[in-house]
Amino acid sequence: MKRFLTLMSVCIALCLSSCSDSASPEPGCDCANLSFEEEREIRDDALESVYGTPGINYEFGSAEAEADVRRAIDAIAAVAGFSGTVMVFDCGVAETINAFALPAATIVFHEDMVRAAYATGQAYADYLVHRSRQRFRNQVADALIDIQTFTVEEMEFNTDNLSEEGRRLACEMLAGVAAHEICHVRSCHFHKRLCNAAQTNSDFERSRFSRAQETEADTSGASYLLQGMRADIDGPLQPRGLMLVLEMLDIITDLRGESFIPWLSTHPDPKLRKLAVGEYFSRNGVNSELFQ
Ligand SMILES: [Zn+2]
Repeated sequence: MKRFLTLMSVCIALCLSSCSDSASPEPGCDCANLSFEEEREIRDDALESVYGTPGINYEFGSAEAEADVRRAIDAIAAVAGFSGTVMVFDCGVAETINAFALPAATIVFHEDMVRAAYATGQAYADYLVHRSRQRFRNQVADALIDIQTFTVEEMEFNTDNLSEEGRRLACEMLAGVAAHEICHVRSCHFHKRLCNAAQTNSDFERSRFSRAQETEADTSGASYLLQGMRADIDGPLQPRGLMLVLEMLDIITDLRGESFIPWLSTHPDPKLRKLAVGEYFSRNGVNSELFQ
């Protein structure tokens, strides 16, 4: 069974002064005064309780896949000024399409999220040729069912049958996911979550970000992508990356509802998220409509 790798193991004390007001903990709650070491302990406990290991090493099944994930993460980290830890869990221990943020400036990708980005990126590259939205959605739906149901042995990373355009779009989607998760870290959404967990006496890893925090992470993530696109028009930071991620979540929701991917139930409806992020991009002069 494979484990996971610290992609960018640059652990520094995250400057808590960047907390936005909305993330400030309840009066009298000292969650915001956690040291980086304390945050790392909470993170490792959460990982241990969910995956049975705080994590050591992960080897990508393909050099291309590793290069695409690194390119996406490095690009968004540079624009967001993010220094932290990015981990990947293989589908042997993490059997869902998911990515999330944790204390100690940590972002976790499930290997299946990388696979889902490849499948969706390739389907959209094909869409740009055949222009049938329904065909695109069917292609994505079929691929996601495969990803959700097959085990690691049957799902080796195979980037051979991906076009250059398909890989580029997947990289943009991974940057879109990372942009969203980095915003949870930068806005210190944990402190609210830690507070809630402390006040409701529930486990941290079972508590969730609020829908308002999810919407905030979408919009501020979108602003990073705009910055990145304006700095490098051909780079992996593109509004369509986040729009494709939300389209993929919309397909999952329509396909099998929230039972297919349980964590979706605590997030705003993907259709509403697409609308909000699309409106944000058009307010900033970018037409991010995927199907024109
Ligand atoms: Zn989120």
